[in-house]
Amino acid sequence: MKVLVLGAGQLARMMSLAGAPLNISISAYDVNTDAIVHPLTQHKLGTGLANAIADADVITAEFEHIPVAILEQCQQSGKFLPGSDAIQAGGDRRLEKALLARCSVASAGYKVINNEADFKQAITSLGLPLIFKSALEGYDGKGQWRLKDPAQADMLWQQMADFLATDAKQAIVAEQFIGFNRELSLVAARASNGEVKAYPLTENHHVNGVLSVSLARPVSSTLQAQAEQMFSAIAEELNYVGVLAIEFFDVDGTLMVNEIAPRVHNSGHWTQQGADVCQFEQHLRAVTGLPLGNTALLRPTLMINILGEDTTPAAILGLAGLHLHWYGKTKRPGRKMGHINLSADSLAELKAHFAKLIDLLPATAFPELEQMLNQIAD
Ligand code: AMP
Repeated sequence: MKVLVLGAGQLARMMSLAGAPLNISISAYDVNTDAIVHPLTQHKLGTGLANAIADADVITAEFEHIPVAILEQCQQSGKFLPGSDAIQAGGDRRLEKALLARCSVASAGYKVINNEADFKQAITSLGLPLIFKSALEGYDGKGQWRLKDPAQADMLWQQMADFLATDAKQAIVAEQFIGFNRELSLVAARASNGEVKAYPLTENHHVNGVLSVSLARPVSSTLQAQAEQMFSAIAEELNYVGVLAIEFFDVDGTLMVNEIAPRVHNSGHWTQQGADVCQFEQHLRAVTGLPLGNTALLRPTLMINILGEDTTPAAILGLAGLHLHWYGKTKRPGRKMGHINLSADSLAELKAHFAKLIDLLPATAFPELEQMLNQIAD
């Protein structure tokens, strides 16, 4: 079975690693260069989307910011899962918010802003504080503005007006600011026969808007049920096939959706060691029509992103339950270069091993880990 992935980054790479034992071979289409590459070696296999499509049994995507013309060409082939509508809903906050409203899934109140009148009306109707997000190309907290103090409104509007002037397709989505207790995400898969299998909710810690640590541990069945109900509502509305991630705010035990990602997700990397079948294999199983695998948490696991570094102290590999995953990328400040998965038989043991790991990692490259350790409730 040959699967073409739109995007040639680490998610395509990890799909390639997970697909190999099932005889699923992955090629990756780089939407920026029009090259077809091997996702592990980045070796060029060919050029042109038409060639890539012709050679594939199934087409999928590893990111959502893909030109619509490319998505439509893939859709027309009849091989594309989860399909153009799902990818577009993940890549355009206007479509995403409308989708969540259609599914009656709780999410922050919002208004789409195209001009100054919309901006003023958003402040009046939604109230302050507000968070403003670019409709397109926004990820990891990029393209965002916050407004608390009405005296700053004019200055902020100037910045947003300048931003809107750069691209006629752009808009800004204003959202009510949610005072959440913590951020969680659900990674789950839906098969073409409608079967759904969800991993346990993962607790996520961000530093400067970028995911730093995800923790998978046994979770409350009430929260898990809420999350799975929302997943099913969204996945059914999209007739979704594949892995879909949903990011939530936990507000005193009630979940609100922050955003969706129509693909495998950074907060699901822990499944490589903490679950029987990892999210990458699960996605490939779903899109190639194979039965979905077991999603139960085998052991508490945490994932730590390696950002902007291409080495870690060799000694960390001496820790029990530690696995290192590099993406083979060239070092750039802040770039996602790899991740560490750390698993243990109990949460107490995981915390003890995490403390040892923190001692071995340079604090400048891995900020705030100590605080995260202290925040893990027993
Ligand atoms: P996003 O790119 O939408 O995931 O936003 C990046 C981060 O900003 C999130 O992980 C939250 O910590 C924060 N954030 C986003 N939207 C809101 C909101 N409506 N209220 C409060 N915080 C938010």
